Amino acid sequence: QLNDKEGIMRKLHNDVVDLRGQIRVVVRVRPMLRSEVETSVSAIEYPTINSIIVNQGSKSSGAMTFEKVFTPIFTQSQVFCEIEDFILSALHGYNVGLIAFGQTGSGKTHTMRGGDGENEGIIPRAASYLFSASKQLEATGWQFEFSLSFLEIYNNEAYDLLKNHNVVKLRLVKETVSLDGLSEHPLKKQSDMAVLLRTADANRKTASTKCNEYSSRSHAIYMWKIKAEQKSTGISTNSVLKLVDLAGSERAKESGVVGQQFKEMTNINQSLSVLQKCVSMQKSKSPHVPYRDSKLTQVLMDCLGRGNSKTMVMVNITPCEEQATESKRSIEFAAKMRDTHIGSAVQQRDQ
Ligand code: ADP
Ligand code: MG
Repeated sequence: QLNDKEGIMRKLHNDVVDLRGQIRVVVRVRPMLRSEVETSVSAIEYPTINSIIVNQGSKSSGAMTFEKVFTPIFTQSQVFCEIEDFILSALHGYNVGLIAFGQTGSGKTHTMRGGDGENEGIIPRAASYLFSASKQLEATGWQFEFSLSFLEIYNNEAYDLLKNHNVVKLRLVKETVSLDGLSEHPLKKQSDMAVLLRTADANRKTASTKCNEYSSRSHAIYMWKIKAEQKSTGISTNSVLKLVDLAGSERAKESGVVGQQFKEMTNINQSLSVLQKCVSMQKSKSPHVPYRDSKLTQVLMDCLGRGNSKTMVMVNITPCEEQATESKRSIEFAAKMRDTHIGSAVQQRDQ
């Protein structure tokens, strides 16, 4: 039984950091929806518990291995169970980033935001989990303060999801980014989260009158600032937790869009490819990681594997045969982040 901060830190350090590294890539395959069950078949196979094959007709991707593969039978609560240690490290002073990637309809919002009750996603579950973990740590003399800011990046512009959808200006100050005008909201009790999420949902909804696929074209970033202090020793840490629901990763040329929509998609593709570069270059400890090349990576800079940070990318795919091309592309994107050098062919690490 681990009942002190140091003990939990040690466990985390041994189990998580040493074995799996600071950046890990996992895959979640959603179940077929009721409407798909009758018309589609699954293009996905699971040769081992942490590998996956995407079949495109007679062509197969070959088995690709990741740190974890969540098959369609995983419930929201089982997914959370697998990642809670990772989330917990934000209380221990790590900057933690969890990023959901995938084409529109692949389950990113379900995974991150989810529905009510058993369908709650990672964001509301993280609030209850961090509250109860912080209560336990209080017994060891630690005090925590949480404050939240939600923002979204649409067409390369940042907006405040908790205050009138105001424009937020990004300003690079040395190695960090300052988010001018972004509102911060203290989280004093767990139920404050529900209120903040409703505000954010309403702001996203209002914004989507501009474009009905708005929410799948924007990156939503749910940021926590965590301050931990031990009164008796005067030790304190500041850390962040960033939970990200990325814009849909589908390619513009295949959806045949033009004009404004084409511009949106170009911005999305550019930011996702910069994200991929940053993660894989950080993983290979490259000295010049191009964080500055997109607003998305500027906002995520402090939790993308640098210094005292941990990153998890969760790649979401659908099981449907009709979407096998996009699923394979997503898996390849994931594999490039998983591997430690860029530009190389996707490697298969099975056995
Ligand atoms: P995205 O945000 O990637 O566009 P959504 O999260 O909106 O995708 O998911 C698309 C649809 O699939 C939604 O109707 C959602 O409720 C459903 N869905 C996604 N993941 C699951 C899951 N694990 N279990 C059940 N339904 C899911
Ligand atoms: Mg979504």
